[in-house]
Amino acid sequence: MLLPSFRDVPSRSVPLARLLLLSMLVLLLASCAHAPPRNPLAQWVPSPNHNAREAILVVIHATTQDSVEASLETLRTANSGGPVSAHYLIGRDGALYQLVAEDLRAWHAGPGAWGTISDVNSASIGIELDNNGIDPYPSQQIDSLLRLLADICKRNGIPREQVIGHADMAPTRKTDPGAQFPWARLAQEGFGRWPRAPLVDPPAGFDPELALRLLGYSSDDHAAVIRAFHLHYRGIDSEDSGLDAEDLRILYSLTIVPGK
Ligand SMILES: [Zn+2]
Repeated sequence: MLLPSFRDVPSRSVPLARLLLLSMLVLLLASCAHAPPRNPLAQWVPSPNHNAREAILVVIHATTQDSVEASLETLRTANSGGPVSAHYLIGRDGALYQLVAEDLRAWHAGPGAWGTISDVNSASIGIELDNNGIDPYPSQQIDSLLRLLADICKRNGIPREQVIGHADMAPTRKTDPGAQFPWARLAQEGFGRWPRAPLVDPPAGFDPELALRLLGYSSDDHAAVIRAFHLHYRGIDSEDSGLDAEDLRILYSLTIVPGK
């Protein structure tokens, strides 16, 4: 871009020329601020055939705080535990807040994995529910969540079964949304994976560890995975890392039974 030289301008016009120069620089900087990142190593030959990167997973959280106001503060500041965020926050009264655009990477999942997804933040939409980790979830909060999930899954083309809890992908660090979360209610609307009744005993040779892997549990910490499985499918938070007959029936239904 060509800019006027001060040496070419009569002295009486210098303030005007300076103003013009400043205006042009502001315009130049403004246009740069909105330009897409381009690799200077390559020639920019733009194509219209693209769209924003899309999520393929939804992760449900509990805030484990005492109020929606406290969580709005935590999710929007560099709090003492480090900055965190989520795309959405739902209050106990069902009020819905959006904090991050869906096509951007919110910081809700942290280290962990689900199936082959090792960077869950890059592949997911995070929804926080105002819950202290102990209380039941009010029906109006779950109704609001169900409306949001239907909307998110439809617009983003995310399969309804691709809805998991934070504990599922980070079983060594997290227990949310916790034992009180109504996964069965979500399953009535087709969200998340849920065993199909009637449950039957698996045949001899059934491998529950393989079944857990097929579901998506990726941690090598067996006790942590079983705890997350019990939180999700039995509604219990237990230190018992064994699998009972009901656990095996559930795993068989989720992963092996024809028609699933
Ligand atoms: Zn969480």
